[in-house]
Amino acid sequence: MKTIILLVLTFTINLFSVAQDIRVARVDPPFWWTGMKESKLQLLVYGSDISLANPEINYPGVQLFEVIKVENPNYLFLNLNITPEALPGKFSIIFKVGDRLIPPYQYELRARKTGSAERQGFGKNDVIYLLMPDRFSNGDPTNDNVAGMMEKANRSNPDGRHGGDIKGIINHLDYIKELGFTALWCNPLLENDNPEYSYHGYAVTDFYKTDLRFGTNKDYKQLVTDCHNKGLKVIMDFIFNHCSIYSWMIQDLPEETWIHQFEKFTRSNFRASTISDPYASEFDRTRMLTGWFDKHMADLDQRNELLANYLIQNTIWWIEFSEIDGIRIDTQPYPYKEFMTHWGERVFDEYPNFNVVGETWLQKESITSYFQKDAVNKDGYNSNIPVITDFPLQGAITKAFNEKDTWSDGLLRLYYVLTQDFLYAHPENTLTFCDNHDLTRYFSSIKEDINKWKAGITFLLTTRGIPMIYYGTEILMTGEEHQGHGFIREDFPGGWEGDSLNAFTREGRNNLQNEAFNFLKTLLNWRKDKDVIHLGKLKHFVPQDEVYVYFRYSENKCVMVAINNSSKEMKAIKASRYKECLGKYKYAENVLTDETVNYLDAFTLAPKSVMVLELKK
Ligand code: CA
Repeated sequence: MKTIILLVLTFTINLFSVAQDIRVARVDPPFWWTGMKESKLQLLVYGSDISLANPEINYPGVQLFEVIKVENPNYLFLNLNITPEALPGKFSIIFKVGDRLIPPYQYELRARKTGSAERQGFGKNDVIYLLMPDRFSNGDPTNDNVAGMMEKANRSNPDGRHGGDIKGIINHLDYIKELGFTALWCNPLLENDNPEYSYHGYAVTDFYKTDLRFGTNKDYKQLVTDCHNKGLKVIMDFIFNHCSIYSWMIQDLPEETWIHQFEKFTRSNFRASTISDPYASEFDRTRMLTGWFDKHMADLDQRNELLANYLIQNTIWWIEFSEIDGIRIDTQPYPYKEFMTHWGERVFDEYPNFNVVGETWLQKESITSYFQKDAVNKDGYNSNIPVITDFPLQGAITKAFNEKDTWSDGLLRLYYVLTQDFLYAHPENTLTFCDNHDLTRYFSSIKEDINKWKAGITFLLTTRGIPMIYYGTEILMTGEEHQGHGFIREDFPGGWEGDSLNAFTREGRNNLQNEAFNFLKTLLNWRKDKDVIHLGKLKHFVPQDEVYVYFRYSENKCVMVAINNSSKEMKAIKASRYKECLGKYKYAENVLTDETVNYLDAFTLAPKSVMVLELKK
């Protein structure tokens, strides 16, 4: 009897002392909204031994219908039903340990903004400016180093943090707008509190928090608002394949199955081809999906339903909170493909007119097309991701102008990539580009030749697809990938106080840079309202005698583009071959020179030059 009393007493004392320590450290998502199409909400509650507590919610219209405990006692998952009767407001989540109460958690349901569900995503009428926030402009030197965060700024280290931030981007939105861009994609701005190499943003430590060295969540929302006020859409970068090993969640895993684990470090084979390869071995495909991207990037296992739901709700939270217009998915083939499909279903169910581009870094058209929504795939796979990145075309653009035309080289490269478009469910929904933050800069690829640069940029902005241009392209920034990523992500000159040159101004750019800047500005601003480029059909003629001619056309509009790839020879273009396109037009406006072309019978093209004619009746 004595023993039993003692046991009960000990248990009560233990529970009492434990209850003293149990606190809710965080709840994700940090708040939610009424009026969402999906009524279910799953809260992740984190706190020392929180699973010993029993949660209760008493708020009209909100039902707590399931509490899920996992291996780790520091987590609870609460399944709520937010019924249409729930009004915006705050309520307490009450936690009881035995019959004792621990401090409750105040949760908020905000009112969903009118029209939020109908938001229009980026599209074919847009041209996207991609910038790396740490390397664009330092608008607030006071946030370069943040107490408690691991990596400090060091601008002399190509792989270090340089201090660029959201304020710096906001300060230069007029520059981006003046150039004629209509959308902005920033490499990730979420917290990357890692000891080194943290500037690029692809090793997230907190999915719900902007890195304080870039700014706060409020600053990010301000960036989106300011962009919208200037007619710029915003695309946010998301990573579902991995996150940092320094993430609070990886440091204290909810379950062992949250990530792929190995006896010793095992890298992905990066062979995304194994996902669609009918002959792929299990070994290779598994290594591709489960191997880690890098030593400090834990590979997430999206087959875990709690994790999958966490990632999906995180996406929806950011769309709703920050009011972005699109998402770029990092490494689309690397997470389980069934997860990406489900993610797409949930996102587009909530926002039917939204848009998403997946990074499909693959060499061939046939395996790229596999990952686009509505692809006709033999295995029936449908990714639900509308836009995919066109790496095959990017490869062709970097080589075409360096080569002499042969049966398959030079301009034929551009031609042959486009002839593969029958493989795509929607070839017009491809993100097209000359380079990006992972590739040799375009001006370096084409041996720093301004004429090749003009030809490539013109092709990019007039062929099918949604073009994207990497920051610094307009001032002919150089850098080769093999030198190291720091060299293709250099600081934009003038982005830092005290920079010797300020390329944000005409005076700060040299003559060649101004020539490139003005060329791009002319084309971008011209493209803005050209629905024949956005929505028109494409017809091209097999490159012949080093000349490639193609047309973008609709019922009553037509644009002709001609590229001469010869380094030495002037080319005469006879119109007779192009009669099926030129037939009903009488004259043209030369978009690049502003001249009127009165005769459409024959044209001449200077060596390594490009011509864009808007045909008129
Ligand atoms: Ca800064």
